[in-house]
Amino acid sequence: MGTVRAAMEPVIGIDLGTTYSAVATVEGGRPFVIPSRQGSRLTPSVVGFTALGDRVVGERAQILGDEAPDRVAPATKRYIGKRWTQELAVAAKSVVPYPLIQGPSGEVRIKVAGRTMPLTQVSAMLLGELKLDAEAHFGRSVQRCVITVPANFDDGQRQATREAARIAGLDVMRMVNEPTAAAMAYGLVNAVRGRVLVFDLGGGTFDVSILEMENGVFEVRATGGDPQLGGDDFDQCIVQWLLAQVPDLYREAVLRDRISMQRLRYAAERAKRTLSDQPEAFLSATELGDHSEINDGRFCQLDTALTREFFESLAEPLSLRCLEVVQRTLAEAKLGPDDIEAVMLVGGMTRVPLVRKLVQQFFGRPAVAGLNPDEAVALGAAVHATELVNRAGTTTLIDVATHSLSVGVLGGTVRKLITRNTPVPAVARELFLPNRAGQTSARIPIFQGESEWADESTRLGELVLGDLTVERRADVPIEVTFELSNEGTLSVRAVDTTTGIAEAIRIDARTTLAPQEVDKLVKEQADYAASQAAKDKSQVMTAFPRVLDKAERLVRILERSAEENPSPEADAVVGQVKALLAQGRVAVKLADTTQMAEVTRMLESLVALA
Ligand code: AMP
Repeated sequence: MGTVRAAMEPVIGIDLGTTYSAVATVEGGRPFVIPSRQGSRLTPSVVGFTALGDRVVGERAQILGDEAPDRVAPATKRYIGKRWTQELAVAAKSVVPYPLIQGPSGEVRIKVAGRTMPLTQVSAMLLGELKLDAEAHFGRSVQRCVITVPANFDDGQRQATREAARIAGLDVMRMVNEPTAAAMAYGLVNAVRGRVLVFDLGGGTFDVSILEMENGVFEVRATGGDPQLGGDDFDQCIVQWLLAQVPDLYREAVLRDRISMQRLRYAAERAKRTLSDQPEAFLSATELGDHSEINDGRFCQLDTALTREFFESLAEPLSLRCLEVVQRTLAEAKLGPDDIEAVMLVGGMTRVPLVRKLVQQFFGRPAVAGLNPDEAVALGAAVHATELVNRAGTTTLIDVATHSLSVGVLGGTVRKLITRNTPVPAVARELFLPNRAGQTSARIPIFQGESEWADESTRLGELVLGDLTVERRADVPIEVTFELSNEGTLSVRAVDTTTGIAEAIRIDARTTLAPQEVDKLVKEQADYAASQAAKDKSQVMTAFPRVLDKAERLVRILERSAEENPSPEADAVVGQVKALLAQGRVAVKLADTTQMAEVTRMLESLVALA
């Protein structure tokens, strides 16, 4: 067996989901999900603070949210990397239990348990937890990773995800689109090839990707999606149905009350999950009413039942919206349903029987089975991370731009430099005569989206050319270069064609935090991680003797069965367990927790094979 200590620093793949997140790795050529330190394969994407001010993440935060919705922050991925607007803040009121607050660089911050936090810090706390889980699994520090993002994430959302990873102390080798990662996992595990469609319905977003998969080349042909369509919307249908059952006397108060609305949402989400396995779900929500101090304790309670059939009728408009997106994406790729050789389901919502039925009816065959739809993305990210480190060259990933990128021109229209579905990395150049009002600076607006009109596109910001000298004439053309990286982030350059001078530019719509604040958050997170890691370490030291006891019992059982049925294989397994036992004893002597973690993992995999 050789040494148990892996020569290489481990790498991980992270699926940072809206409702659930997962972390995976590849060992022995097989991708697998690393369980959390609580033993779960998925970690709820929830961060919270107890009444004592202690940070809780994942399951513990979800449990806290049941009791105190104002102390937790779920589903923050819906808003990460977006600019704060009044409309966004108002719309969020009916979706999440926390208020959205405008930050100094126009970013979204949230107020939870009395503290105001940037969303990249919330994501960093989630990422930090997954990092700690991976470190507990490997018994050593882990930095390098691949993180996935929804295909339709724009530049700002991708930049913010990178910022969150930085705060969490992670070294992101590459960000990959979620459906592409899932296709890599399905491709490896199920040996699927040909033209495939990934149907990715998560908690907050819906993505569709069409890929060609042949001999290790994963080439994205088209992507589509609806960034405002996900499991939360299905929950919302149930919430509306529940609200109709709240007695008239209380309905107004419940609608206004964040805590009551959160209780209804939790009840709705649980019922939706139950209905994936059962024909009927019972829902109960207590203490519905006004939770403000002036209420004299008048609350109502709701107990009701929902059948799968009725849920399907409530959710029908949403499922039709999913199909429309699929049809649009197929049309864009100039394909029909029959041209697709396999459909891959991704995202927790594809466990819903209605969604599976819909896919089966539309494509005339069931989706590929074999992977858990909520794990495929993390597994694919791990496969890609390993590929990047090994540089084995067995797989190549060619992704596409998921939005068109343009420059605003006169007359309120836009000129597209990079069109949607262009393979990335992509570079495009064009000459512009910017409006140089005031002569000392010039502004070129940058847009994203498919419309020809600026006011129907998303404004990414403005290229600001500063310090223009008076001698330089107003009509000097500026060459603008857009560079879209292989992970979908945009960089822009501008050169004065007469002088060749590259202009200093900035995209002013980016909502990245000030460097000093990032540094402060990095330190805070590092301190927290160090104290958690110390706790984890002492837990391993306490638990490891029990692992060795188990291994001793295992040796005795294996020896007995080898005596009864002698074979070279049986002898070999006995030898392997004995060797691990010896290494474990050395680890105890040296208090080497890395070695302990590795011995534990090896023993577990031997037991799984036995
Ligand atoms: P994701 O963003 O992939 O984690 O997807 C999470 C969404 O899937 C949430 O809306 C969950 O409520 C939903 N979900 C997860 N598991 C199930 C299930 N067994 N049945 C129905 N919906 C589920």
